Amino acid sequence: MDAVTDTRNRPLRDLRISVTDRCNFRCVYCMPREVFGRGYAFLPHSQVLTFEEITRLARLFVAQGVEKVRITGGEPLVRHDIEKLVAMLAAVPGLHDLTLTTNGALLKRKAQALREAGLRRITVSLDSLRDDVFMAMNDVDFPVQGVLEGIEAAQEAGLHPIKVNMVVKRGVNDSDALDMARYFRERGHILRFIEYMDVGTTNGWRMDDVVPAAEILRMIDGEMPLEPAEANYPGEVAERYRYKDGGGEIGIIASVTQPFCGACTRARLSAEGKFYTCLFSSAGHDLRGLLRGGATDDELSAFLRSVWRIRDDRYSEVRAEATASLPKIEMSYIGG
Ligand code: SAM
Ligand code: SF4
Ligand code: SF4
Repeated sequence: MDAVTDTRNRPLRDLRISVTDRCNFRCVYCMPREVFGRGYAFLPHSQVLTFEEITRLARLFVAQGVEKVRITGGEPLVRHDIEKLVAMLAAVPGLHDLTLTTNGALLKRKAQALREAGLRRITVSLDSLRDDVFMAMNDVDFPVQGVLEGIEAAQEAGLHPIKVNMVVKRGVNDSDALDMARYFRERGHILRFIEYMDVGTTNGWRMDDVVPAAEILRMIDGEMPLEPAEANYPGEVAERYRYKDGGGEIGIIASVTQPFCGACTRARLSAEGKFYTCLFSSAGHDLRGLLRGGATDDELSAFLRSVWRIRDDRYSEVRAEATASLPKIEMSYIGG
């Protein structure tokens, strides 16, 4: 079957699978406590896709051209037996690249099992090396050391490369960027700076809170000179820069100031089985209903293709203060 392309001629290459909408953190830019507090109604377990359902869909997505799958959430490591899903996905023929994004809190405990299940590499989120700043951002008083130990465990388990995601918020952790760069450069991990985005409708996003990636780049380059590096593959979201002295690389994800919708080949599957064609979609396409209603592989494949064919999304290219308040899905639900 021919690879499917959307109305802007973008193929379907990447799939992000959210395995849970729950999380053990309450990051202020993602799941603010005022909204995701005690009374918040997370998805009941019966509505969350089973590992078998996820794997079946992953296999069908791969048949439509998907080469890379990222397991995310919510926090994927809070999903019971997540390594079983990793093993099932690692066995999908044609899936070349399987990875996972985690806040690292449970990684020390899980790294070895994930590696043994077939995970090759991992991304860990960490926004500061200072406890006061990090705890204020994760809002559950989780210490930096706990994440660093998770990263070490991942390295010992042979997960490689390790990427570290840092969301930069003006006046909150922008002054930590250099320290983070020094620290992870020394250890050979790839630090990626992510512009704070207006995902969902609960984080009170304002353009003033965004630190343009170019600013961060200048800051790092001033102390540790950088040069641009080639993208690893077309459509890579992070722009790569390598240290001129050969001391590794960093990445910049400038989704606000330098949108990359033109090359966006990413689909998202929510924990309850909705298929989204953009991080900023306001509605998803229900796959769980089809799965549980007895749809055949051919019927599901035809549906995936029909949704992708009419895809027209380019939210980041048209973003403005006004669009920030449009109805959107929360990142913890849709998967970052
Ligand atoms: N819980 C896992 C974690 O934090 O790594 C996986 C899910 S999280 C939604 C995926 C990534 O999205 C994280 O690196 C997180 O920092 C990032 N993220 C969340 N909210 C964001 C926002 N408003 N702007 C930019 N990145 C955000
Ligand atoms: Fe949880 Fe990740 Fe969102 Fe933080 S960014 S609240 S760790 S899902
Ligand atoms: Fe892709 Fe939507 Fe992000 Fe643009 S805004 S890069 S289309 S997910």
